[in-house]
This record gives sequence, structure tokens and C-alpha cells, in this order.
Amino acid sequence: MILKNTFSQKFKNNLNENVSLSNYSWFNLGGNAEYLFKANDKNQLIEFLQEVEKNKLKITILGAGSNTLFRDNGVKGAVIKLSKDFSYIKLIDNNILEVGGATLDRKIAEFAKKKSLCNLEFLSCIPGSIGGSIIMNSGCYENDISKVLISIKAIDTKKFTEIEIKKEDIEFYYRGTNLPKDLIIISAKIRGSFGKKDEIEKKQNNFIEKKKLSQPSQIKTCGSTFKNISKEKKAWMLIKEAGCENYKEGDATISQKHCNFFVNNGNAKSSDIENLIKKVKKKVQEKTGADLELEIKIVGE
Ligand SMILES: Cc1cc2nc3c(=O)[nH]c(=O)nc-3n(C[C@H](O)[C@H](O)[C@H](O)COP(=O)(O)OP(=O)(O)OC[C@H]3O[C@@H](n4cnc5c(N)ncnc54)[C@H](O)[C@@H]3O)c2cc1C
Repeated sequence: MILKNTFSQKFKNNLNENVSLSNYSWFNLGGNAEYLFKANDKNQLIEFLQEVEKNKLKITILGAGSNTLFRDNGVKGAVIKLSKDFSYIKLIDNNILEVGGATLDRKIAEFAKKKSLCNLEFLSCIPGSIGGSIIMNSGCYENDISKVLISIKAIDTKKFTEIEIKKEDIEFYYRGTNLPKDLIIISAKIRGSFGKKDEIEKKQNNFIEKKKLSQPSQIKTCGSTFKNISKEKKAWMLIKEAGCENYKEGDATISQKHCNFFVNNGNAKSSDIENLIKKVKKKVQEKTGADLELEIKIVGE
């Protein structure tokens, strides 16, 4: 009760209780968040985190939800999202961009194109926010975030301070980093290279076209479900080899266009997606010996 009062008084315009998370995940699935907080700015974020700590609430950080499956029973504690005020792009030097943590990758690609900055075209194919993409070290077509990042600014959710971390001090690997879980990325500096606008546009359109041909669109999915084992052993190849392409659980199916994309056909539950994941993982292990690791994040009770 005390908690509720403090929260509702201090953060009334930014905090909601029992919010359905299905609108916040690309799977369009998930139960309720006990609390959903949308931070306006870093001071308010820190103030909220202090309140959360006092009340021993669990926190979950959410970007654009394009890599996150929320479970049916929802998420206890506070789900924290950065508001639109964290979505901005500034050209701070000739070829260096500062972007807010909630900025969508495709907006960065568009901005870079307008400024004739190349090597950021791949961002037009990733539907997430830059915060989520740094955590995932997202990438495609021989590029990824680690190759263009200069530094991040983040709020330490335990110490309530803002820190800056240089790229050299972060260990990046395939679809992940060693960044501690208790950081909320609020901005990042990234580097483009000087290029020609028409060539950048051509490259970007080419990437988008390639994606359209190889991956499904307009469906409820979080993209690749499992990580590739290696270039030669991609997850989709193993799923195919194990004969799982037509597996389904309830209304959760596997895309016929790209069998590492799992899909909510409209009436699936999160548990259907999770059961499908378990079924495929088991079969692939039995048939090929490969132990598939999840790329998507599964969150909740
Ligand atoms: C159709 C489709 C195609 C895709 N194609 C690709 C692809 O080509 N390459 C690729 O790599 N991925 C791809 N993805 C996956 C996804 O888009 C990326 O992983 C993306 O970078 C996730 O960003 P997000 O903001 O949606 O993260 P979310 O799903 O919201 O979160 C992902 C993780 O990041 C953390 N996080 C999010 N924001 C922050 C923050 N500000 N501070 C700290 N932690 C944070 C979350 O806690 C979570 O652990 C695809 C997804 C879809 C739906």
C-alpha cells in the first residue's frame, strides 16, 4: 500500500499497473506487467530506481520488444521502458552520431543515409532499438553493433549513477556482450564512414530486398529463435535437417520461409511458443547432436 501510494504520487504520469505486455512484444504475446514504467529522463529514471530498490522490486528492461517473449503469467515487479524522449539522433562530429537508447535502428540507418554516412546500412534491417541491439550485439550481412559502436552511457540500476563505457572495455560476442545485467543504456555514440548517398541508398535497399526474400514479414515473430552454431551450421539448417519445419504447438508455428522464425498465428499462447522451442531443440539434439541456444529472451513467471 505504501509502495503503491509513493509510486502513484511520484510517478503518476509514467507508471501503470497490470499492463498487458502483448502490445510490447513483437510476438504480440504475454501476460501483465505488475508495473510498467516509462521514464521521461535520466533523473526520473534514477529516482524511480531508488524507489524500486527501497521496495525490493524486481526490474526488467525493455527496448522495442523485437527479441523478447513474455510468459503468459506476466512479469512481477517493474518493467522499465525508455520514453520517446530517449529517441533522438545527433550528429556530434563529422561522422559520429549520438543516439538516445530508445532510438530505433532503422531511424539511425535513415539518418546516416541522409548525412552520407555509410557502414550503418545494416541497421535498416533490424527492427529493435539501439539499447536492445547493443545488448544483443545485433547484426546482419557481415556487420554488427560491435563494429560501429564507440561508447555507451548507462544508468547503473544498483548504484543509481550514470556511467560511460568505451567500446574497448566491452567484450562483444555473437549476439551478446559481457555488459552487466544491471545497466540501462540511455545513449550511445556510433561511427559511420564517409560515403556517397546514392551508393548508401543502393546498399540499404539491397539489404532490405535480401531480407524480404529470405525472411517472412508482417507476422508476429521475434526473428531468429535460436543462435547459429557457426556459419556452416546455421540454426535453420539444423531445424530443417531434423525435419521440424512443420512442427506446431497450438497456434504457434514455424515460418515456411525461414524455419528459425517461430510465429504466433494469432491465437497462440506464450507457452505454445515455449513448448515449440523445447520440442524443436530436443529433436535437433537427437537428430544432429547440436545443442541449440536461444537467441530470443524469455521473460516472466
Ligand atoms: C522480423 C525480425 C527480424 C530480425 N532480424 C534481426 C537481424 O537481422 N539481426 C539481429 O541481430 N537481430 C534481428 N532481430 C532480433 C531483434 O530485432 C534484435 O535482437 C534487436 O536488436 C532487439 O532490440 P529490442 O530493442 O527490440 O530489444 P528487446 O527485445 O526489447 O530486448 C532485448 C534485450 O535487450 C535488453 N535491453 C533492451 N533495451 C535496453 C536498454 N536500453 N538498456 C539495457 N538493456 C536493454 C533487454 O532487457 C533484453 O535483454 C530480428 C527481429 C525480428 C522481429
